[in-house]
Amino acid sequence: MTKTLLACLTLALAACAPLVPAPFGRAAALLDGGGYPTQVCDAAYAGRAAACSFSGSGERQAIRANLISAGRLFIGGTLVINADGRIEAAGCVPPPSDAVLLDCPGALVSAGWMNLHEHIDYSYQQPAAPPVLKWAHRNEWRRLSAAERGFEGDAPKDKAVAAEVSERAMLRHAMSGTTAVSGAKDYQAFARNLKLPGEGNPLGAPFGLPLLDNTFPVGDAGSMAVLPAPCTAQQVAAVRFTPANGFIPHVGEGTNEGARHEVDCVLDAIRAKLTPSVFIHGVAISPAQISRLQAQSVAVVLSPRSNFQLYGATAPVTALKAAGVTLAIGTDWSPSGSLTVLDEARCLERYNRDALHGLLTPSDLHRMMTSDGARAVGLAGQVGALAHGEWADLVILDTEGRRSLGEILAQSALPQTLAVLVGGRVSSAPIAWAGHLPQLEGCSPDPRELCGTPRLVCGANAQRPLQQLLRQATYTIDDSRLCRPQATDDCVAK
Ligand SMILES: [Zn+2]
Repeated sequence: MTKTLLACLTLALAACAPLVPAPFGRAAALLDGGGYPTQVCDAAYAGRAAACSFSGSGERQAIRANLISAGRLFIGGTLVINADGRIEAAGCVPPPSDAVLLDCPGALVSAGWMNLHEHIDYSYQQPAAPPVLKWAHRNEWRRLSAAERGFEGDAPKDKAVAAEVSERAMLRHAMSGTTAVSGAKDYQAFARNLKLPGEGNPLGAPFGLPLLDNTFPVGDAGSMAVLPAPCTAQQVAAVRFTPANGFIPHVGEGTNEGARHEVDCVLDAIRAKLTPSVFIHGVAISPAQISRLQAQSVAVVLSPRSNFQLYGATAPVTALKAAGVTLAIGTDWSPSGSLTVLDEARCLERYNRDALHGLLTPSDLHRMMTSDGARAVGLAGQVGALAHGEWADLVILDTEGRRSLGEILAQSALPQTLAVLVGGRVSSAPIAWAGHLPQLEGCSPDPRELCGTPRLVCGANAQRPLQQLLRQATYTIDDSRLCRPQATDDCVAK
């Protein structure tokens, strides 16, 4: 019997166990899935702080913990990872005897966060004070001086410095649970870079096709011009993309007509495109444009914190969700965005509570950070759901005994983020786990011991060892801020 067939049989058996829909029943009392159906494999894994131990040996790995896999929350479930780093089985299955077993009662294993919007070489400084002015289009602030707009927001001119701040920002995201980043230029460090091919590259896009980002699809990088009218055929033809690749442009970043024209312009340009397209920001999207997005299967990446700070508004989440448009999430950059994907999700949750009447459930938010992010960029079935056959890109969180997915998302920061794996290999983990699990290359102990925990971090570019990243002075974010959730006071519409 092949391994695959065996895995399918065990999955089929697991599926026979009764599903208890949250919030009803005993499963919900143990750990509410926040919209995900919950299935109890072993009740003793919920309602306690994480306590992890290793046993066994072999080429495969198994993790026992609470587990979100393929849209279900398993209490005391098992994830089996093969020697290549792909998921062989997930659910209420017994751990194989010929595997390294990481047993973590009280922990939650989730697909790693997909950060679909980051300007990695700009994500190294925070504004001295948050922007006070609000604008109607990004071209109203892009060329202003730092003093006028309230934040620096420029990439370092020196290439070596740019590489160092970028890799340091990648480290911040990876330690915080992110396993894939779009907008990471050509940097390879700590998490997957979705722009890079995956073939033979453990930190590339797993299906081998690079995802092309474009900050200026209507060609306004060098000007402050805003489209005065709908695009001409010539302007539409000038939108640059590669039909064979996923495309993730900035579109409609602002609230005025000019921002709205960009949405139609890029939609016209990609009308016949068959590969995934994802619009970043989309603040200006109109109801008529939502129908077009839906008809052309274009997803939207939300960056609410940056949008609220700069424009006092964000994309029309309620109408986009109602139309079935796939929604994902991204941090944008540190000057006006979030430090981590979880902080960005909490920003959206604040808006959800304040203005959307709780439209988004915790599982909706979780999907945006994981499986819907993967779907948006054409990676469904490769990463994002911890389903059979996917790559084991995952984060292990200490639930600290919390009783719901909503509470876990609301309260988890770096101290609760125990470990992060990319393709089944350690990107970040407690130092005590060193040597127990396969690791990405370039591992070092992080001498900072952030939040009081000695950590091993892996996946640094060999040219830029961790000590060098930590020494350079341009990156001015105090990473000890990751020890607590970022405040959401700025996540309100104005
Ligand atoms: Zn951006």
